[in-house]
Amino acid sequence: MNSFEQMQEGRPTGPLVQGYEVIIGFETHAQLSTASKIFSRASTAFGAEPNTQASAVDLALPGTLPVMNKGAVERAIKLGLALGSHIAPRSVFARKNYFYPDLPKGYQISQYEIPVVQGGSVAFFLGDEKKTVRLVRAHLEEDAGKSLHEDFVGQSGIDLNRAGTPLLEIVTEPDMRSTAEAVAYARELHKIVTWIGICDGNMQEGSFRCDANVSVRRPGAPLGTRREIKNLNSFKFMQQAIDYEIRWQIGELEDGRAIQQATVLFDPETGETRAMRTKEDAADYRYFPDPDLPPLAIAPEWIERVRAQMPELPRAMAERYVREHGLSDYDATQLTQSPALARYFDEAVRAGAAPKLASNWITGEIARRLNQQDIDIAQAPVTATQLAALIGRIGDGTVSNNAARQVFDAMWTGEGQEVDALIEAKGLKQMSDTGALEKIIDAVLAANPRNIDEYRAGKDKAFNALVGQVMKASQGKANPAQVNALLKAKLG
Ligand code: ADP
Ligand code: MG
Repeated sequence: MNSFEQMQEGRPTGPLVQGYEVIIGFETHAQLSTASKIFSRASTAFGAEPNTQASAVDLALPGTLPVMNKGAVERAIKLGLALGSHIAPRSVFARKNYFYPDLPKGYQISQYEIPVVQGGSVAFFLGDEKKTVRLVRAHLEEDAGKSLHEDFVGQSGIDLNRAGTPLLEIVTEPDMRSTAEAVAYARELHKIVTWIGICDGNMQEGSFRCDANVSVRRPGAPLGTRREIKNLNSFKFMQQAIDYEIRWQIGELEDGRAIQQATVLFDPETGETRAMRTKEDAADYRYFPDPDLPPLAIAPEWIERVRAQMPELPRAMAERYVREHGLSDYDATQLTQSPALARYFDEAVRAGAAPKLASNWITGEIARRLNQQDIDIAQAPVTATQLAALIGRIGDGTVSNNAARQVFDAMWTGEGQEVDALIEAKGLKQMSDTGALEKIIDAVLAANPRNIDEYRAGKDKAFNALVGQVMKASQGKANPAQVNALLKAKLG
């Protein structure tokens, strides 16, 4: 029994696919948002001309020595604090030896036996169910360069700009039991690393890349052989790739073939995974401690300094929203998708909006429009203060929900900025004069005797029909609560 096997003892069985249990573990490379590289002072900016950001250290010129970037270590500490991990007071850099044209040193500097971040977990909701995925470790390492095949005919180019870019590789236990759970884990981790500002999270540019290790087994059997899907750089591909891989592995087993451990690539064109190479064992890399770098020492005071700068985390914030504002778990989770969205909600509440209504508007109307226009909350044309003013006018009975939506639309599309002025200009004020309202109600009752009889015979629908008639007759300006009360009184 290996260590992964031991860690799975006693975990509940996941949902079955054709009688098989799915087991997934993730390795994620988060590119750390430092301005310079992990062991040199060259820039990490994306998109520069090839080889303009490769220093002598990155090129592995003889006589150069790596110098640790403090900012990278600090970001690793932040992740450890965010995920409740142990931060090693002393961790060790190791050389992972292999040959590849985009790796001029002939080895990658990584951490092997003693990583900087150990243990911890990521918790998230999958529907209503709270899931916890345990981490094995997170270690610091340098990225390799890039081989360019597309731009050349009959030859390949090497771009070493990316060589030496700081990465944190975050490794989970094989704790996930479905594609949906795996994608939810990746989304949550993505949210956390961007929230605490250690990674820009840009998946197209490769700042957040996931490797999904997938195996299947009969319930209760030992862990199956895994295949590792490399470099998933979108949540959509992640879902397609894992789904395909599960079906493929089950197909192989059902046909009587054994799964070979392998590294595979997902092809978005065909929607299939394809074996790239059989998997190396750790022994093939001849890991040994890097003699050029002293062990990484992290004093408790350093950890405390970093802790003091940590923002409130999304999960803690969501739990606080539930506690302080009585929101549902679901709404609170929606509002804490990004710091900017949470800030918008906070501002609206601070400006006097009822929290539940602010939450409904933000997760409903506003989220829909942001989505539609593919923009961020920071670019929303309606400010949190304006939203609060509008919600206030619903609360004090000045406008109905429907009218409020019209005002909101006007503000969003730039027709106006001031809530009260818009209500006035559009004639959306609710009717609050009881006398005028009673006149309308009397007329409606006189014209609909059938509904009255039906209502008295116990049909609720008939009552709603009468409310509808009154609202229509008032051109939507009657206050529905008032209409309800007056109608009930009149019908006895
Ligand atoms: P490497 O891929 O570098 O050899 P490890 O052996 O440490 O690394 O395992 C990498 C990942 O594979 C971990 O995320 C772990 O959870 C996952 N894993 C290990 N065994 C299985 C398995 N049988 N099925 C699915 N995932 C697994
Ligand atoms: Mg791996």
